[in-house]
Amino acid sequence: MYVRKQPKVVIIGAGIAGISAARRLVDAEFKDVIILEAANRIGGRIHTVKFGDGDMPIEMGANWIHGPTVQNSTFQVAETIGALQPYRINNRMSARFMREDGTEIRREIVKEAVHIYNKVMDDVYRTLPRERIKNSRIVTMAPLIYECLDKEVKKLEQNEDYIEDMKRVLNAMLNYSRFHEGEELEKVTWEKDIEEYNVPDGGDVHIPGGYVQILNHLMKTVPKESLILQTEVVNINWENCENEQLKIKTKNGTTFTADHVIVTSSIGYLKKHCETLFKPLLPEIKIEVLNSMALGRVDKIFLEFDTAVLAPTYSSVAFAWDDTTIGGDSSKWYKRIFGFDQIFTKNKTILGWISGDGAEYMETLSDEEIGKTCVQLLRQFLGNKDIPNAKAVLVSRWCSNPFVLGSYFYQTKTMIPGEQKILSEPLTTTSGKPVVMFAGEALTNCCTHGARDSGIQQAEKVIDLYQGKSLEAKL
Ligand SMILES: Cc1cc2nc3c(=O)[nH]c(=O)nc-3n(C[C@H](O)[C@H](O)[C@H](O)COP(=O)(O)OP(=O)(O)OC[C@H]3O[C@@H](n4cnc5c(N)ncnc54)[C@H](O)[C@@H]3O)c2cc1C
Repeated sequence: MYVRKQPKVVIIGAGIAGISAARRLVDAEFKDVIILEAANRIGGRIHTVKFGDGDMPIEMGANWIHGPTVQNSTFQVAETIGALQPYRINNRMSARFMREDGTEIRREIVKEAVHIYNKVMDDVYRTLPRERIKNSRIVTMAPLIYECLDKEVKKLEQNEDYIEDMKRVLNAMLNYSRFHEGEELEKVTWEKDIEEYNVPDGGDVHIPGGYVQILNHLMKTVPKESLILQTEVVNINWENCENEQLKIKTKNGTTFTADHVIVTSSIGYLKKHCETLFKPLLPEIKIEVLNSMALGRVDKIFLEFDTAVLAPTYSSVAFAWDDTTIGGDSSKWYKRIFGFDQIFTKNKTILGWISGDGAEYMETLSDEEIGKTCVQLLRQFLGNKDIPNAKAVLVSRWCSNPFVLGSYFYQTKTMIPGEQKILSEPLTTTSGKPVVMFAGEALTNCCTHGARDSGIQQAEKVIDLYQGKSLEAKL
C-alpha cells in the first residue's frame, strides 16, 4: 500500500467507463479526480437527445440494457433510480416483413424463417469456436451462415413463391445480424467460450427517459469541477513515472499531472492515435493486440413525420429485399438498412438501423439526402406513395465521430480469443505500481455494463493501492 494519501487520478473520457471509474473513486473518498473529455458533453456512445414529436428523449447510441438482471451493473443503476418504467422488453420479431413491391409476406412464412434463422445462428455460434479450437482455423460468420441457411431452405418442401419469400425474410434477418454483430458478417467471427462476452439473459430493456439518466445519476456525487469538457488529451508522458508524476498534454495546450491515468478512449480512437498518445510508446505487444481489434460500423436514422406512418399494431417494418448485395457499389448503401422501428411513445418518429459498408458510406451524405432516400424506401416497401416527406431527419455518424471512430467492438478474425486482456493490463513502474490503466467497452464486454465494470475495476486497482481492499460501492 502506498502512503501518499491523496493521489491525483486523471480519467480520459467521460463515457460510462470513465464516469463509473470517477464515481467509484469519489465513493472511496478520493478527492483529486479529474475527468478530461474531448467532446462538449458527457456520455460518449451514450447520447440521449430530444427530437421530434413531444420532444421526447431518443438514443443516438446505446439503446437498451442487454440482459436486465442483477449481474448487469447498468441495470442495477437504472433500477435504483427507477428509470425502467414503463418496463418494455424489445421484441423485434413482431415486425411486418415487406416485399420490394409493397406487399406483406405472410406471417407463417416469417415465423418459419425466424425459426430457421435462430437455429442457424445457434449452430454458427457453437461451430465457430469449435472450428477454432479443433482445426486452428479462423472462419468468419458469413460463409457458415450462408451455407447453413441455404441447406435449411433446400430442405423445405414448399412451392417456389414460398421459398422466394423465405429468402426475402432471411435477407432482412441478415441485415439484422449485421447491425447486431456490428459489422459486415464477412469480417466477424465469434468466440462464445470466452466468459466476458456472455451477456446476461433476459432480453433487451429500454430506458424510457433516456440512457443519459444513468450517467447523470453516477455524476451526482462527482464534484462539478472534476469534469473538464472540450479537452482532448493528445499525449500521456509516463517516461519518468518512477520518480515523477505523469504529464498529460491536451490539444488546448494545457498540461495536467497525475499519479494515475485511466484511459477509456475507444479502440477506434486508440488504433488511430496510439503512436502519438503515449510517450514512451505502448509496448509492442499491446500495439499488436490493438491492431488486431476493431470497432464495427452501425448507425441510426431518425425520421419524424406529421402523422404516424407505421401501423400501431406492429413495432417495426423490415425491408425484405430480393437481394441485399452491395458489392463495391456504394450508391446501394441503403440496402444495409434493416427497416424502421416505432419509437416507444413516439409513433410519429421512427428509427432505422444501418450497418457495415452501407453505414460508413451513408455518413458522407447529407441528412436531407438520407431522409429522402428513406422516405422513398418506406413508400416502396409499405406500398403507400402518399407517405409524406419527413418533417425532420437526424442521423448518427459514429464512424466519423473523431473521438470514437466506430460503433461497438466485434471479434475480428485476426484476434486471438481473450487477447484484449493484454491491452487492459496497466503500464507500471519497475516496482509494479500501475500508472497508466485502460478501461472501456472493448476490454471486457461490448455493452454499457461491460464498459462500466471495466471502469470500476480500474478504479478499484487504484483504491486497493492506497486503502487496501476497496470499500463497497454506493449506488
Ligand atoms: C449505435 C450504437 C448502439 C449501441 N447500442 C447499445 C445497446 O443497446 N446496449 C449497450 O449496452 N451498448 C450499446 N452500444 C455500445 C455502448 O454504447 C458502448 O459499449 C459504451 O457506451 C462504451 O462506453 P465507453 O465509456 O467504453 O466508451 P465511449 O462511450 O466511447 O467513451 C469514451 C469517451 O472518451 C472520450 N475520449 C476519447 N479519447 C479522448 C481523448 N484523447 N481525450 C479526451 N477524451 C477522449 C470520447 O469523447 C468519449 O466520450 C451501442 C453503441 C452504438 C454506437
